[in-house]
Amino acid sequence: MDTSLHGRTALITGGSLGLGLATAEAFFRAGARVAILARREGPLEAARAGIAAGAEQAPPGAAIAAYVCDVADPLQIIDVHQRIVADLGPVDIVVNNAGQSAAGPFEQITDAAWQADLDLKLFAAIRLTRLAWPHMKAQRWGRVINLLNVYAKTPDANTAPTSVSRAAGMALSKVLANEGAPHNILVNAMLIGFIRSDQIRRRHEASGSNGSLDEFVAAAGARLPMGRMGEPEEVANLALFLASEAGSYVTGCAINMDGGLSKVV
Ligand code: NDP
Repeated sequence: MDTSLHGRTALITGGSLGLGLATAEAFFRAGARVAILARREGPLEAARAGIAAGAEQAPPGAAIAAYVCDVADPLQIIDVHQRIVADLGPVDIVVNNAGQSAAGPFEQITDAAWQADLDLKLFAAIRLTRLAWPHMKAQRWGRVINLLNVYAKTPDANTAPTSVSRAAGMALSKVLANEGAPHNILVNAMLIGFIRSDQIRRRHEASGSNGSLDEFVAAAGARLPMGRMGEPEEVANLALFLASEAGSYVTGCAINMDGGLSKVV
């Protein structure tokens, strides 16, 4: 199975922590030139340095570069895309991963909160993909991977604005898959359930629990169908499959990456 990304430039939003970081590591080890984006310079630089430290195990041509960018800001997106193209070459693979949980009772969600969630989770993907699309089309090769969550297919009470932004992201993925197919641009979404990440660490901190993070993860995982939370590397494995030639005939799918949590296929 060919999972090499040799010669490809990949842009990963939210690449400093969690699922984005694991995906960046996997893409780097597969030989890609990887750009990771996040707002905070500290974690971003730590991620870059950590990945670069594994350069001896990576194939020739692999590269890692970090860019401070708030992907909710349209001007920063234009600027960062230009810089990445100049540094690493035109973007072949876009992974729209940056995001954070936002859910509450409908009546309490203000216009500002709705807009912020849509800017981060939907418009960032629209804007970045639109910038990378012409190059993908011209070379007849491209990949877009959108990280969403299980509520995209099964929106529940008290899950807005996230469930609405994610459902829109799933519709966007299908529209793009249909437009991209004749140009060999493959677009897929991953619907995330519970995966151990910095987000989960923050939830443990906020819970005020006296137990360790591992105990918190184990207890939450025990309630899931597979009896455990997923690991970021398991998400990265699927992202690598979809981004590489191994996934060359897969497009327009919204794949549950949730250890069986979702009640729908
Ligand atoms: P983490 O909180 O662990 O990491 C989030 C990453 O996104 C960080 O690198 C963060 O860096 C970056 N980020 C957040 N906001 C912005 C922004 N405005 N601009 C640029 N970068 C940003 O999250 P996970 O790894 O857990 O989640 C990854 C994706 O998967 C998210 O979209 C999340 O909503 C989704 N997901 C995850 C689940 C899970 O169980 N882990 C469950 C369901 C969905 P910084 O803060 O420095 O900007």
